[in-house]
Amino acid sequence: IIKVENLHKYFHSLHVLKGINLEVSKGEIVSVIGPSGSGKSTLLRCLNHLEVADKGSISFEGQFIAKADASGKAVYKNNREVLAICSNLGMVFQNFNLFPHMSVLENIIEAPIMVKGKAKAEAVRKAEELLDKVGLLEKKDAYPNQLSGGQKQRVAIARALAMEPEIMLFDEPTSALDPELIGEVLQVIKKLADEKMTMIIVTHEMNFAREISDRIIFMDDGQVVVDGSPDAIFVNPDHPRIKTFLNKVL
Ligand code: ATP
Ligand code: MG
Repeated sequence: IIKVENLHKYFHSLHVLKGINLEVSKGEIVSVIGPSGSGKSTLLRCLNHLEVADKGSISFEGQFIAKADASGKAVYKNNREVLAICSNLGMVFQNFNLFPHMSVLENIIEAPIMVKGKAKAEAVRKAEELLDKVGLLEKKDAYPNQLSGGQKQRVAIARALAMEPEIMLFDEPTSALDPELIGEVLQVIKKLADEKMTMIIVTHEMNFAREISDRIIFMDDGQVVVDGSPDAIFVNPDHPRIKTFLNKVL
């Protein structure tokens, strides 16, 4: 469902992604781990066009948003087409990014109405269903500043799901949370996994990654160093850089 080939990204002279190749199948759950600064967020942001890649190709279900030309340069489709394709991706950020001046319900119905042109009643119905799913229906009229971090993140997940994405991208969804609030967010992600939602999850929660993932990608210095089963990474990490990393985080 996602294919990335030879992806390169520079921030000025800083070479942040150095030839990433990645394929994710429908229904697959892939966790991305690796040291700070290795390019995990940049990779996710290139996938949903929050960043523009310099070289390589990115496609969803065979539709290219960017395709490498003969020199390898990433050539993007026009913006309208890119946006249409990227609307299949939902994104959840570390810091929730809720609209502070809107209630929980308003946060969730905004994009379905404004972007997808959904009727308000239908958007509200769907939003209530999603709030129920993340266990926050009773908070629908609250404002973000009245919620705990874990609740905010669950609203952010419901908001992303309201766009009915094919794929969910999570960038460290629990790193801004107090330890006692992490579980409630992981539980919601687990629920999505049980429903076979395709997901790419950047996380420092190693136990969770191991439990939930079909595959784990270990990134270091802008490259995918290992792409393998959870056991290959955690039980028999034969790559020295993974061993060093795991020794630090576990
Ligand atoms: P972390 O685990 O800390 O979130 P990460 O693996 O997500 O790290 P990225 O955020 O992708 O790493 O950053 C990769 C590199 O790119 C870092 O050196 C970072 O400083 C740099 N970088 C990221 N965004 C920008 C930007 N907008 N402008 C310039 N440099 C950037
Ligand atoms: Mg990051």
